[in-house]
Amino acid sequence: MEIEIRSQTDDEIVFVVRDAEVPFVNAIRRCAMVNVPKIAIENVNIIRNDSAMFNEVLAHRLGLTPLVSNIDAIEGMALPEDEDYEESQGVMFSLYEEGPKVVYSKDLISSDSKIKPVYDTIPLVKLKEGEVLKIEAEAKVGYGKEHAKWMPTTVCAYKQYPEITFNEDVDIDYDCADACPRGILKSDKRSKKIKVLDIENCSMCKSCVRASVNNYINVGYHENDFIFRIETDGSMPPKEVLLKACDELGEKAEKFIRFSEEGGSN
Ligand code: SF4
Repeated sequence: MEIEIRSQTDDEIVFVVRDAEVPFVNAIRRCAMVNVPKIAIENVNIIRNDSAMFNEVLAHRLGLTPLVSNIDAIEGMALPEDEDYEESQGVMFSLYEEGPKVVYSKDLISSDSKIKPVYDTIPLVKLKEGEVLKIEAEAKVGYGKEHAKWMPTTVCAYKQYPEITFNEDVDIDYDCADACPRGILKSDKRSKKIKVLDIENCSMCKSCVRASVNNYINVGYHENDFIFRIETDGSMPPKEVLLKACDELGEKAEKFIRFSEEGGSN
C-alpha cells in the first residue's frame, strides 16, 4: 500500500491511498468519524435566559460549538470508557452577558486556558436591551458514535481514483470536453486530442459520457486506489484525527488477534 499526501492545511488533509481495499479504507473513515475522542459541552445549567431562544436550543448550540481538543488538551481528562467518567469533573465554562448585544463563542470563559472555543465569532444568541444570559456549562470528552458534537470531522470521505479513457476507434468528439462542469477536459483541436487536466478533480458525474453521441469517452475508476479527504471543525488537526483513527483500528485488531490466539475463550 502506498500513501501520498496531496495537500494539507490546519483543518484539511487530502491524500491518495494506492493498493488498498474498500473495507480497509472505510474502516479508517468510520474510526475517524466516531472513534476519535473530542471535547464538547455536555452539561448546561441555564441560570437566567431572557432571550427569545429556548433553553434547549441554546444548550444544543453550545454543545455544537467546537472546542480545542488536540492531544495536549485532552491529556488527563476522563474518557467515556473510564470507570469514573460520570463522576469526573470536566472543564467548566461560564457566561454572563447583558443586552443589547450578540453573544459570541468568545464570551464563554473557560476554567482551563488550553480548552476554549476554536473560533471566537460563532454567534450563540442575540440579546435585546435589558435581557440577561447567565449560564454555567461543563465540557467532557466523548465519541462521535454517541453524538455528532463529539465528531471531529466535518468531511471524512473517499472516492475511488478516477480513470478516463478515449475510444480511438471512433471520431474525436469535442462536445464531451465542453460538457465537463469542472473544466477537467480541454479540447486541443490543433493536435486533435482531448487533454485531461486534473484527473483527481473528476467527480465521475459522467456528464462528458452522456454528451458524447459516439461513445468517444469512458469514465471509470481504479478499484484499489482512493482519494481520501478529511476536514475537521478545527478542534484538532486532521493529521491527528487520522493517526488516532489508525491507533483505534490497530487496538481493535490487536484485541481480535489476542482473542483468536487464546482460542476464543475470552
Ligand atoms: S465524469 Fe464529470 S467531472 Fe469527470 S471528466 Fe467527465 S464531466 Fe468532468
